[in-house]
Order: sequence, then C-alpha cells, then structure tokens
Amino acid sequence: MSKSTNIQWCDSTVNPTMGCDGCELWGPGRRSCYAGMLHQRYGGRSSGYAPVFEQVTRFPGRMADAARWPDLAGSPRPDKPWLDGSPRLVFTSDMSDALSKGVSFEYLTTEIIAAVTSAEGQRHRWLWLTKRPSRMAEFSRWLSGLGQPWPENLWAGTSITAAATCGRVTELLEVGDARTTRFLSVEPQVEPISLADWLPELDWVIQGGESGESPRAFDQDWARSLMVECERAGVPYFLKQLGAHPMEKGQRLNLRDRHGGDWGEWPEELRRREVPGVDRRYSRG
Ligand code: SF4
Repeated sequence: MSKSTNIQWCDSTVNPTMGCDGCELWGPGRRSCYAGMLHQRYGGRSSGYAPVFEQVTRFPGRMADAARWPDLAGSPRPDKPWLDGSPRLVFTSDMSDALSKGVSFEYLTTEIIAAVTSAEGQRHRWLWLTKRPSRMAEFSRWLSGLGQPWPENLWAGTSITAAATCGRVTELLEVGDARTTRFLSVEPQVEPISLADWLPELDWVIQGGESGESPRAFDQDWARSLMVECERAGVPYFLKQLGAHPMEKGQRLNLRDRHGGDWGEWPEELRRREVPGVDRRYSRG
C-alpha cells in the first residue's frame, strides 16, 4: 500500500491481498504482469508480499489503515492537476486480484466493504480493479442478499487488453446497481478495440500501451479512435501512457519517458485526462 503513487489516474494504492491466480498477462507464454514480476523479486523475502505470486495471501487491516489517510476533497494535486478537488482516489488491488478464487466473500466483506463504508473510508473513492468481473458481480449479488447494497464510493472496474477479453465489460455491468460507477482500464492494449457496444453504460475509460520487458506495439490511432468513441458517448476518457513501444503511421517512436507517460511528448490532440466527478475537462490540446 502506498499513500502516494506514480500511477496517473489515482492518488494512492492499497492491496487487501497479494498474489493472483493469473490472466492473459501472466501464465504460460507471457510474464508481463508488473505485480507478478515484483513478486518474483520480493516474494518470500519481503513480509509485504505473498510468498510466491500464485499463492494469494490476505493482508487484513490494510484497508482500514488506508481509510485513515487524510481527506483530499477540494485539494489541488500539483503533479496530477486532472485530479484537483476530487476526494482521494484509492486504486484497490494493483498488486493482486482480490477476486482470485481462494479469497472468500466473508474476507472481502470484513476487509473491503467494512473499510469503504466506515466513517473514515467514506471520505475517499475506492477504485477496485479486477480481471474477474463475473466474480465481482457474484459478490455484489451475495452482498445484496445480506441487505448490503454495493457502496456508492466503491467504483467497480475491469481490465481488457484485446478484443477477446471484451466479454469482461458485459460482466462488469452486472456489478452493483444504478448508483454504481463502473470503469474500464484498456491497458495494455495490444490490438484495435471498439467499445461502441458498451460505452453508453460505462462511466470512465482509461487507456494505455504496454511497458516492461518485450512490450507490444501501441498504435496512437487506437487512442484517437477510442477517444472519439468516448466523446460521442459522453464518457470521460483518460490516456494514461503510450507504453514503451508507441507507433505512429507504421513507425516506432522513441520517447524519453520509458512508459510513454509524459504527455508533453504526445501529439496535442491526445493530451486528454478526464476524471469522473472532476468538473472541468483536463486537456492541454
Ligand atoms: S489479473 Fe492482474 S494481478 Fe493477476 S496476473 Fe493478471 S495483471 Fe497480474
């Protein structure tokens, strides 16, 4: 957990679990998950990590600790001005997938739901990202059966990387109720994707290219087309990074920032970082 982070679309990160069952970024043939790579280095050596990445491990109390972090509502963020004025945005589960199959709904309730609904936790917005939105929807129905609605300050998000993973968006729409904010992380995007079928029902889209070892190409035209789709649907759009292998008109670009996250190096029309609940559009283009 970290009160501050370099991740452009949030203020902080917290992990009620560490480790993961894997996904298309971590399994036979691909090892590009950042959390997995850090576990290879620190797992079994540092007490803050799962012993090995595949052994999903609970860390109770982290969410309650994060809930006590100072309120940021109304505050400027000099290094991330697109977040100015927002309540603290806490990326929940960036080093794990807390919806991995061995994590019980009882634990998710006492660790996550209790913290975000506490008096201190309600001052923040919690952005829970998973590649298992069907299990998140199942958890949401289970909570509802106990009389616990999905907390309004718990935003539900999923990640997609390619057209074959877009089914997760349909599953995400099953989480929560009409008051739930649902967001999509299209990162690392590795091929053209259209969100036209789902966009009107989403509340936020974040997009980015791949970084790390052996990064796959990200065509800047993919950003242009998704930005236009979001604009037409009235959905806030946030371009996080172009990745380590950005392409323009068939040519590879060499950027100084190794993740392609410095928008000063981007074409002006791509400089867009909108955030739900933050009044003005943040665009330097
Ligand atoms: S689901 Fe997330 S944490 Fe798990 S392997 Fe995939 S990218 Fe890594």
